[in-house]
Amino acid sequence: ELSEVKGEIEFRNVTFGYKEGEPIIKDLSFKAEPGKMLAIVGATGAGKSTLINLLGRFYEIWSGEILLDGVDIRKVKLSSLREHLAVVLQDVFLFSDSIRNNITLNKDISHEEVTAAAEFIGVSDFIETLPDQYDYDVQERGNMLSVGQRQLLSFLRAYVSNPSVLILDEATSSIDTQSENLIQKAIEKITKGRTSVVIAHRLATIKAADKILVMDKGRVVEEGKHQEL
Ligand code: ATP
Ligand code: MG
Repeated sequence: ELSEVKGEIEFRNVTFGYKEGEPIIKDLSFKAEPGKMLAIVGATGAGKSTLINLLGRFYEIWSGEILLDGVDIRKVKLSSLREHLAVVLQDVFLFSDSIRNNITLNKDISHEEVTAAAEFIGVSDFIETLPDQYDYDVQERGNMLSVGQRQLLSFLRAYVSNPSVLILDEATSSIDTQSENLIQKAIEKITKGRTSVVIAHRLATIKAADKILVMDKGRVVEEGKHQEL
């Protein structure tokens, strides 16, 4: 069961690039309100995934500040920061291990919790059709899982870690209609009452967001609700 969690994210005049003299994120400022869903849209190469790298502190920013609940993330212990944030990447990464371990990441999460979460997110039916179900070895017939199913499993992984902030980089690959519907419902459920930053590619996700940022070449060029943009 999830209660309301704080988890305010603020970017204050953040500038960053991978190569000196080539900024990708330019003086970027925005706020993700606690418990709300912020969607970020923009052309390919705009710097959306880069922003996620910065939030997880995978790179040092050049200037500005990134704050979590008002605290500069550079002052937060890395392990603690990463406990607060769950990141679902564009390209889902699954280990050659059981479905269960891919969900729990070998953390102490009971079978009941895993199955309850799977049911809540709407993936239990799919898992139960697999041979060995939660013990199904992902590697064994790796290709049997579609992109959509892999994404659903990564949502479940993020959900059971019960993060204060959920960061989601929606996959751009084509996803079958059935998974598409499940993904939509799953996104609604895992983001409800939780601060989330979603790099959105689907119209349904954009519509569901509390606020939308439109990014272009490392800057926010528009901001508002879906019907305002
Ligand atoms: P998409 O919609 O295609 O996912 P994006 O908005 O997520 O695009 P980014 O992945 O943030 O875009 O990339 C922004 C720019 O930074 C691009 O020019 C890209 O080539 C560059 N870039 C991204 N990651 C790296 C990296 N690890 N090292 C060097 N350059 C990178
Ligand atoms: Mg990207």
